[in-house]
Amino acid sequence: MRHLIWFRTDLRVADNPALFEAAIEGAELSAVFIASPGQWRQHGMADIQRDFLARNLAALSSELSALGIPFTLLEADTFVEVPELLGRLVAERGIDALYANQEIGVNERRRDRAVQQTLSIPVRVYNGDCVVAHGSLAPRSGDMYKVFTPYAKAWLARVRAEGYRLLPAPRAQGQALAVAPVSLPDGQVSSEAWLAGERAAHRQLAVFCHERLREYGERRDYPDAEGTSRLSPYLALGVLSPNQCLAAVEAELGCLPLSRGEPGFSWVNELIWREFYRHLLVVYPRLSMHQPFKAETRALKWSNNQLSFDLWCRGRTGYPLVDAAMRCLNETGWMHNRLRMIVASFLTKDLHIDWRRGEDYFMSRLIDGELAANNGGWQWAAGTGADAAPYFRVFNPTTQSERFDAEGRFIKRWLPELAEVPVSAIHAPHEWLTRHGMAQAYPPPVVDHARARRHAIAMFDDLKDRQEAP
Ligand SMILES: Cc1cc2nc3c(=O)[nH]c(=O)nc-3n(C[C@H](O)[C@H](O)[C@H](O)COP(=O)(O)OP(=O)(O)OC[C@H]3O[C@@H](n4cnc5c(N)ncnc54)[C@H](O)[C@@H]3O)c2cc1C
Repeated sequence: MRHLIWFRTDLRVADNPALFEAAIEGAELSAVFIASPGQWRQHGMADIQRDFLARNLAALSSELSALGIPFTLLEADTFVEVPELLGRLVAERGIDALYANQEIGVNERRRDRAVQQTLSIPVRVYNGDCVVAHGSLAPRSGDMYKVFTPYAKAWLARVRAEGYRLLPAPRAQGQALAVAPVSLPDGQVSSEAWLAGERAAHRQLAVFCHERLREYGERRDYPDAEGTSRLSPYLALGVLSPNQCLAAVEAELGCLPLSRGEPGFSWVNELIWREFYRHLLVVYPRLSMHQPFKAETRALKWSNNQLSFDLWCRGRTGYPLVDAAMRCLNETGWMHNRLRMIVASFLTKDLHIDWRRGEDYFMSRLIDGELAANNGGWQWAAGTGADAAPYFRVFNPTTQSERFDAEGRFIKRWLPELAEVPVSAIHAPHEWLTRHGMAQAYPPPVVDHARARRHAIAMFDDLKDRQEAP
């Protein structure tokens, strides 16, 4: 029996259900990855993520060669060419079955259907990216979960009852092979600040669990505190699985925290958010197509102010924490969750710019860009999502700054022009800068927050009025 494992966003050998199943006793296994640069461009993939992908593929190639599994890198510019390319490979190698882990975007699902229709061999697809398989949790009403809290309750009940499944890497299937080279067209932006490969991801996971898991709930909202795991780039490419995250938590704490208030539970809760957004994307494919979850919000009248958008992108809005966050994103390809919420709220509720422009911009910059979480986060902030913040709850960028970067340390790290501003003025520095003859150093606020907030609420009130009109 010859089995082909097709790697996609599951770049790991351990806890990889498709690889595990493909490697059954007696099967002769080979592996393939298909680079699709044209498709990645269409999906707006960031250069830094492409670079990180290439480096993780190289690490995977080396893991596979140690297991004696030959690895081939192919290229199909877009998904449309994939079925034919795979068909040729399957015929050349006399493959009997193809194995892969499910991907959830609409284009990925179309590609996979086309592959199944084209190949005359069995195509076996597994859940490799969630602890609880997509679509497998449904309320008794028969409808699908749209709100996080009941989804999380059902998720926790399932994991309490059934636990989670952690699969080992397959046994070596022969002598180690020479490492297959991985050369992808160069990304323009280096991801070297992040170590690549499963081993690096596991080291980072273990260090996080040992040093920061217990205090995560208290520290996770402070961008300067290094309180979170920074594992999102690995989870986004499947270098690490969520089951492995749970196993590391359990190993560290001696038990899995599955109830609110237990140490470590808040981190598990974030993994549930990740799965909730993936569940929504599977159940509501329109989310993959730039559609709001709440259909009525299509009528919102977003602003087209290009200048404001550019100021937001470049970190020149005059709101220091927003600007520091955007410059951090532009320079490093990563942004802290609290800051993602603040800048997303600012773009949509203060500048009244369409959340989809922010979503695209994030995608084009993030090393952890991931459709489900990015879309979910943006729609949550914009008030258009399934489980959005109530539309009248608008983040105040100045009070958020006072609360979560009280000393202005994060701000000063990214806005060197504010180095001399005292803490008392750091969250709204314009007046201080003017008084000290430094007004040129940093822009005044691009909007008045109180007025902008009223406008945002009016936009949503308009929507309600329309719905209620006979
Ligand atoms: C507007 C907006 C856009 C976002 N875009 C993305 C994105 O493209 N890719 C992405 O992975 N996350 C995204 N997030 C979610 C979250 O900000 C990041 O996952 C988190 O900041 C990553 O840091 P960490 O690994 O240190 O997370 P930790 O706090 O250590 O959390 C552990 C893991 O849980 C998952 N997670 C944490 N918070 C969330 C969340 N709110 N929603 C979904 N999953 C979560 C991530 O996989 C994360 O690595 C977005 C959030 C917002 C508000």
